[in-house]
Amino acid sequence: MKAYASEMIKRDSVFRDIAEKRETLWLNDKYLPYDMVDALCQLIVSDSDIEDAEKRLHRFAPYIMKCFPETVNSRGIIESPLKDIKAMQRRMEKEFDISIPGRLFLKMDSHLPIAGSVKARGGIYEVLKHAEALAVEAGILSYSDNYEQLAEKKYKDFFSRYTVQVGSTGNLGLSIGIMSAALGFRVKVHMSADAKQWKKDLLRSKGVEVIEYNDDYSKAVAEGRRLSDEDPMSYFVDDEYSVALFLGYAVAAKRLKHQLDEMDITVDAEHPLIVYIPCGVGGAPGGILYGLKRIFGDNVHVFFCEPVLFPSVLIGMASDLYEKANVADFDIHGISEADGLACASPSGFVTRIDRNLLSGDFTIQDEKLYTFMRMLMETEDVRIEPSSCAAFIGPHSLMNARNGLSYLKAHDLTPSLMKNATQLCWATGGNLVPEKVWQEYLSK
Ligand SMILES: *Cc1c(COP(=O)(O)O)cnc(C)c1O
Repeated sequence: MKAYASEMIKRDSVFRDIAEKRETLWLNDKYLPYDMVDALCQLIVSDSDIEDAEKRLHRFAPYIMKCFPETVNSRGIIESPLKDIKAMQRRMEKEFDISIPGRLFLKMDSHLPIAGSVKARGGIYEVLKHAEALAVEAGILSYSDNYEQLAEKKYKDFFSRYTVQVGSTGNLGLSIGIMSAALGFRVKVHMSADAKQWKKDLLRSKGVEVIEYNDDYSKAVAEGRRLSDEDPMSYFVDDEYSVALFLGYAVAAKRLKHQLDEMDITVDAEHPLIVYIPCGVGGAPGGILYGLKRIFGDNVHVFFCEPVLFPSVLIGMASDLYEKANVADFDIHGISEADGLACASPSGFVTRIDRNLLSGDFTIQDEKLYTFMRMLMETEDVRIEPSSCAAFIGPHSLMNARNGLSYLKAHDLTPSLMKNATQLCWATGGNLVPEKVWQEYLSK
């Protein structure tokens, strides 16, 4: 164990839980009221950057609609439903003998079109941005064109001269691979040992080159980055640093606001919004958190959820070592069932930009993922992959664990206020899981 880890364990029993791989809740010691960080955050990622991303996605909508008919109903906008899951809420209360106040919702990014995971936001966005930049620079596309024409052979031929590469535990590779291949790019996906076989098979069936590493995620990323940098025609989607990915995820917030408005759900000081997002390297949850804070400020409370084997964002933030932290520093080793969350070191960008915005971080044991997965299927007839189910540890433990209660107290979230709360679990993946793999999941 590293010296800093031992020091942290002496200081706070939460870090003993972490080292002993027990479920726990870390509360962010550097959480600040939104007003105090707003100006500084805008310097790094501004509201106009997020608007720019939204506009880019609109420009591409006619192309997306043409290439992916499943997006016709949303007119080429890649968005997911927001579902009231009262039956799941009641079932959790009964089964665990706990209380979950307010209304419980599921944000179903598990069912996002094209890639079937939250990565359809950031991953696809970054590929589109790169393609647009190349085509505009070559003088074959202008911002006012109808982008539907990108489906024509002439553009595919153009993009086929370029390569896109990415390191992935699975789902990012799927979203980058599917989108890049559709545009005509050559694609290489560098996959870590935790990646599931069906994800590799699916990618290969789309003509993507999958390179397998018998090592963890950070190694797959480092090797992919190195190989891509050697090739001037290659672009690397860098999950550990990419601002473009982050912006693609951040766009989710305004879309969610719109959905809440349509359902007549208020978010204000009397009606808090509490959001739980499964977290791997931090990119997807980090961008969503950032977007939500920019819209809802102090009225939204965002918690990340990580497997007990991979609390990398938690350690990166709590130690202030950011990307230099590694779960191995706490002597944590192992392979998690939550393949999408199996990241030993966090994103340096996200752990910094969200250092004062994240409320806290829950850890969850692998077995619980399957318990929640089955419950959701039985009560709501919704299938989401095990990684995604990490979000349910939030409503499960917030009101019922020591640190959860102290968070509520510190933020004046009284029992009567919590009755008005909207609690939201972010389902991050599942729709592309093959039937055979579901049967394996269900037999665990
Ligand atoms: C990628 C992923 C996450 C978390 O995203 P990070 O950017 O790695 O933090 C959560 N759930 C699923 C299913 C994912 O694929």
